[in-house]
Amino acid sequence: MARRIGSRYTAHQILGRGSAGTVWLGEGPEGPVAIKLLREDLSSDQELVGRFVQERTALLGLEHPHVVSVRDLVVDGNDLALVMDLVRGTDLRTRLDRERRLAPEAAVAIAADVADGLAAAHAAGVVHRDVKPENVLLDMQGPLGPGGSHRALLTDFGVAKLIDTPRRTRASKIIGTPDYLAPEIVEGLPPRAAVDIYALATVLYELLAGFTPFGGGHPGAVLRRHVTESVVPLPGIPDELWQLLVQCLAKAPASRLRASELAARLRELLPLLAGMPPLDVDEPDTGEAEETAEELSGAAPAPGQPVRRRGAVPLVPGARPSGSNRDTHTSMRVPAPDELAGGAHGTARAPRAAGAPRPGSARNRAVTRRRRLTLAVAAALLAAGGVATWLATSDDTPSPPPDMENSAPATP
Ligand code: ADP
Repeated sequence: MARRIGSRYTAHQILGRGSAGTVWLGEGPEGPVAIKLLREDLSSDQELVGRFVQERTALLGLEHPHVVSVRDLVVDGNDLALVMDLVRGTDLRTRLDRERRLAPEAAVAIAADVADGLAAAHAAGVVHRDVKPENVLLDMQGPLGPGGSHRALLTDFGVAKLIDTPRRTRASKIIGTPDYLAPEIVEGLPPRAAVDIYALATVLYELLAGFTPFGGGHPGAVLRRHVTESVVPLPGIPDELWQLLVQCLAKAPASRLRASELAARLRELLPLLAGMPPLDVDEPDTGEAEETAEELSGAAPAPGQPVRRRGAVPLVPGARPSGSNRDTHTSMRVPAPDELAGGAHGTARAPRAAGAPRPGSARNRAVTRRRRLTLAVAAALLAAGGVATWLATSDDTPSPPPDMENSAPATP
């Protein structure tokens, strides 16, 4: 079913739905385009429409091979639409869902493309603020790059900032996607270019590992991990690549690389990574939702409560219900300093040796309880002179995994 958008465009079919609206395959005077039609509650907000119109020049100004250009802004009755270059392909989230982990060469090539796009934006004074796999599109019609990767383009520039109006989000609220939020945003500082570098490093970690370094469970727990926890090394990752990730995931924004440096350093690594298979990383177990709920409230979720795997709260009231990987925005209170100072609880998603329980997980706690019990029994038996008896019974008590005592990873 075709739909007219302003006087120049026709929307033909839905390409995808995002948190801010629906993206259509459309036609304009210069050929096929992608048209993002903002949700009605957003497009009927006069203040928001005013901001889009005001920022028109910034929105339309970015032209770069790794940025999805916005060609036009249409305000027509109740419609507010961004007309963009059409990218024939898929988004990075879809590829990641399909492949779980990418080979390091392909992951680094994609991250280098995104870093190039960010460098152009930052040079123009634009901070993206919502870098995540959903906002990276892969051009599947163009030539293949290193590791068989498709050219990556960053989309949704400036949109997060525009939707984040003072009225919608007072100074005490955070807009963004919990898994990718830089610690300085959690602490209430204004988002500068370095937040995009942190988010991109998180995306690269996710492409390599299959999960983000600080994600999982309640959004509040995710935010706290960004501030208090250190990233845990990925088994088998080349040291040069790991050092780059660590530098860009630094808690202090000034310690992170700039986008152009990051792009150059990533490209330098490509020959080293050629032909390397995806990392053999153990997935975090599913007990984490329980533990993070406990972390925040001191109580486990009620039995039968749905387990939310990713911090997923709609961007603004009325967005689609959370529960899927795509509902990834959050709008929530900035935690108070004392809440953030809760200390490292060891809930960062630590890659483990196969079969080892995750630090702090229900299984790990069971192991800890059994271990304490064994030690108590041992102490009692020792006191009673029954060492031989205890040695005989301790065989079926599991040994603690190597990472159990050290759930908070060492600062690199
Ligand atoms: P989100 O709000 O989650 O970032 P978007 O609204 O930007 O998502 O996009 C939703 C989906 O529409 C994307 O996952 C992608 O599949 C498709 N899409 C977005 N922009 C374009 C584009 N310029 N060309 C082709 N497809 C697009």
